[in-house]
Amino acid sequence: MRIVVVGSGYVGLVTGACFAESGVNVTCVDVDSAKIQQLKQGKIPIYEPGLEVMVRVNSEKKRLTFSTDISEGIDGAEVVFIAVGTPPGEDGSADLKHVLNVARDIGRVITKHIVVVTKSTVPVGTAEKIRTAIQSELDKRNAAVSFDMASNPEFLKEGAAIDDFLKPERIVIGTDKEGTKEIMTRLYMPFVLNNHPILFMDIASAEITKYAANAMLATRISFINEIANLCEILGADINNVRKGIGSDSRIGSKFIYPGTGYGGSCFPKDVKAILQTARDNGYELNVIRAVEKANDYQKNVIFNKMNKFFGGDLRNRLIGIWGLSFKPKTDDIREASSLVLIEKLLGAGARVKAYDPAAMEETRKVLGDRIEYSNDPYEAVADTDAVALMTEWSEFHLPDFNRLAGMMKEKVIFDGRNIYDPALLRSLGFIYFGIGRK
Ligand code: NAD
Repeated sequence: MRIVVVGSGYVGLVTGACFAESGVNVTCVDVDSAKIQQLKQGKIPIYEPGLEVMVRVNSEKKRLTFSTDISEGIDGAEVVFIAVGTPPGEDGSADLKHVLNVARDIGRVITKHIVVVTKSTVPVGTAEKIRTAIQSELDKRNAAVSFDMASNPEFLKEGAAIDDFLKPERIVIGTDKEGTKEIMTRLYMPFVLNNHPILFMDIASAEITKYAANAMLATRISFINEIANLCEILGADINNVRKGIGSDSRIGSKFIYPGTGYGGSCFPKDVKAILQTARDNGYELNVIRAVEKANDYQKNVIFNKMNKFFGGDLRNRLIGIWGLSFKPKTDDIREASSLVLIEKLLGAGARVKAYDPAAMEETRKVLGDRIEYSNDPYEAVADTDAVALMTEWSEFHLPDFNRLAGMMKEKVIFDGRNIYDPALLRSLGFIYFGIGRK
């Protein structure tokens, strides 16, 4: 079986590598020629555990190839996946320009029947827009080539993307054609041997399923953050409350960890996009609107605590930041809470030193030399007035607190992920602030 995956970012590259791993011949395409050049040399432009080996092995076996030209590999391909970015437009709705560029490219090159599958997160109605764009290119060159549309939203998590792709809890496929069902079932069969389902549905339902999933997860995060903030006001401890509610099987324990607000390349933009989709159709999603508002508040929580602690004057304070990526095991800093904190600190006249195991390079691209970058966690806290834990990477969980205490100017820790034991830290002489804890 042969397929093409267009867009070689977090989703496209993982998709391509995992299908190649199952024996499919895959061509990964991207407009970014530097990225394609790197991939051809076996270098991975992103940090994703396990991906580099998988790409290298499948490249060596010639099942995985890379190109900037979509026509390479399309001949004989049964499926072409669109996995390009869908960033938020000015009004918050998903910007489809990359998706429609790919659609036009497909229309320009196909000569045989193909199934065009959107893996990018796209609003309801996008499949029809893609269909129209492809058909208009076919009409321009008087080509009578048939093609079918399908929607196959992706649910992988950065940091665990390979595992999620190889062992998905479910695969959602929107299609109106029996033939497409057959092809997609064949393609995904290796990944559902665990009996997890392929859920076939109409295209509109598949498209909205992805937004509904992300909006639900974002809702849980904002919900627990609000309860945490209330706990703090009332002198309760969110950790006890979290366990108390999470043990109820109707609620469950996942995604109810308080923190500094959700970030990343998906939740913020997908929450915005579903709100805008609803508005465009004359409906206000009140719950989801509140989720976004609560998250905006939460992203400032650590700064507000710091500002209060330092009496509203952060000028010339040196603050260490542990963790820059929006979550552990990724170098993705899009919409990361760390960036909100850093901007606020710099705006208030503080200086910032930061360390992250994977996201330093990405952060440097955004912040340049406005902050200092450290080579290890300890260097990042030397002579600081406070340290803020923003991403719960494993290596931050059990630091040598005595060493920290000896290096910091002031022994103050702002734990944005509640990973430390406040009693232990206080016994070591630290002043500790968490989220929603006594
Ligand atoms: P990304 O920014 O990492 O990668 C997108 C890639 O598409 C880039 O390499 C870019 O150069 C390429 N591209 C843009 N226009 C192109 C074109 N015309 N032809 C070929 N390549 C082109 O994006 P991502 O994080 O992989 O996300 C892709 C889509 O998947 C988005 O819609 C996103 O919402 C969705 N998604 C992302 C995740 C995630 O965790 N990152 C999870 C599920 C779904």
